[in-house]
Amino acid sequence: MSEPSDAARPLIVAIDGPAGAGKTTVARRVAAALGLPLLDTGAIYRALALVAKRKGVDWSDAQALGALTQDFPIRFVPAPSPESPQGVFVGEEAVTKEIRSPEISEGASQVSAHPPVRDGLLDIQRALAAKGCVAEGRDMGTVVFPDAPHKFFLTAQPGARAQRRHAELVARKGPEAPSLDAVAEDLARRDARDSGREVAPLSQAADATALDSTRLSADEVVQAILDQVRAGAARA
Ligand code: C5P
Repeated sequence: MSEPSDAARPLIVAIDGPAGAGKTTVARRVAAALGLPLLDTGAIYRALALVAKRKGVDWSDAQALGALTQDFPIRFVPAPSPESPQGVFVGEEAVTKEIRSPEISEGASQVSAHPPVRDGLLDIQRALAAKGCVAEGRDMGTVVFPDAPHKFFLTAQPGARAQRRHAELVARKGPEAPSLDAVAEDLARRDARDSGREVAPLSQAADATALDSTRLSADEVVQAILDQVRAGAARA
């Protein structure tokens, strides 16, 4: 059988980068502009950390966590507008808000370092992308979708990333939000774990375009991505 042509292949736009670089906002707007679903893979690791916590499975227990990934019933429900978050469901239960707490951020970072977890979630991620998507995470361009025709690596200076994440938490939690220093420490710890792990560490794919969002607005980053994707489509 011959290889499917590019035109027949589902369109996958892979966006990787560290926490707080603006991936979520950018990926959401790019997906809306291209009419593609958004695959937020961080939400999958977050949901797994939440389910493990509820079941009393330790975030360090690689084998038990790997077993939890089997037929993990994660689902996404599209957002009504590009500015609102899509729904994240485990089975019939919405966990959209619960998975965004600092505790679950830490849990997701811990559970995602285990090889049985990453292996167990690989097919689920690929199945969710079967009709094309904008895929956001740490290893989209390197491991999960190495053949994606469009890959981007979005970064920003650590101070800018901490400020953005802090502003998001203040908007959501008001005075209960953690301090800027606490957010900066949390990001640094997660970055170190994500970049230093043995399996699928956070790294830029050789064929990815690097974008530094420190001094760019989200719209400027979105435009740069759309320009490149559309130029590629015009060439195909
Ligand atoms: O992107 P987000 O901050 O929601 O991801 C939560 C955690 O899940 C990250 O800190 C990272 O450890 C992990 N993750 C991952 N691989 C991905 C997406 C997220 O290891 N593709």
